[in-house]
Amino acid sequence: REITYRVTVSPVEGEGRGGALCAFEDITEQEQMGQIRRDFVANVSHELRTPLTALLGFIETLQGNARDDPAARARFLGIMAREAERMNRLVRDLLSLSRVESDERLRPTGRLDIIGLIDSAATTLRPMAEAAGVQIERTGQPGPLLLPGDADQLTQVFHNLIENAVKYGAPGKLVTVEVGPEPQALGRLGPAVRIEVVDRGEGIDPIHLPRLTERFYRVDSHRSREQGGTGLGLAIVKHIINRHRGRFRIESELGQGSRFIVILPRG
Ligand code: ADP
Repeated sequence: REITYRVTVSPVEGEGRGGALCAFEDITEQEQMGQIRRDFVANVSHELRTPLTALLGFIETLQGNARDDPAARARFLGIMAREAERMNRLVRDLLSLSRVESDERLRPTGRLDIIGLIDSAATTLRPMAEAAGVQIERTGQPGPLLLPGDADQLTQVFHNLIENAVKYGAPGKLVTVEVGPEPQALGRLGPAVRIEVVDRGEGIDPIHLPRLTERFYRVDSHRSREQGGTGLGLAIVKHIINRHRGRFRIESELGQGSRFIVILPRG
């Protein structure tokens, strides 16, 4: 492990002879935090710049060559709308992330029916799933099942996980959301509920698993962008679950599919 020290030398006045005081301060953690912050700013700038450059390019074309060509104009406007939409999603996800990070230490005060919440997240995503040829099914407990939590944030968790399962799942295959009691209590937090979002898609190489919840980490950047991903979905999921004092785990097998496991205290 590399350690970074800040060394401060200050003169000390002594009787007759002078001396020096040398202080070593371990600033490894500060350095690492600084690096993470710098990487994040660089990533955000890059992610925003790509659609922005495309938009500027098309505006220039529309003002020039394509001005009197209605077919080209319509096509370029379509692309511009997609790029602007991408920037919009990125800003929306960045705001969500910063909001959940800033209140991560505040316990959520609401109470909600987790089954109803999952069902409504699935309902919102059904049109997208149908277009992808994927069916979403919820199994296990019929509900209702009351938990302490923030309804908007937990909706976002299951929306992100089910959306990923649809996006990275395989056409014709099921996406299942399985809800049941978690056999092990969550330490002092007591009994818990376990929710698994399962797809039968291409799966994820295990070497990626530990980094998937990092901001902007993607297995295949091109594919993620093609499908409108911001690379922030799982980072948001992880922070929201932390705030709820829950656990989050990903299991996957290449060629078989993936399983995203959320464990939440029953309160
Ligand atoms: P994105 O917006 O790129 O989908 P996420 O943070 O939601 O960002 O996910 C990060 C990466 O994890 C994705 O780019 C993808 O490579 C991988 N991933 C997420 N969910 C799945 C899944 N169900 N199956 C396979 N890969 C997945």
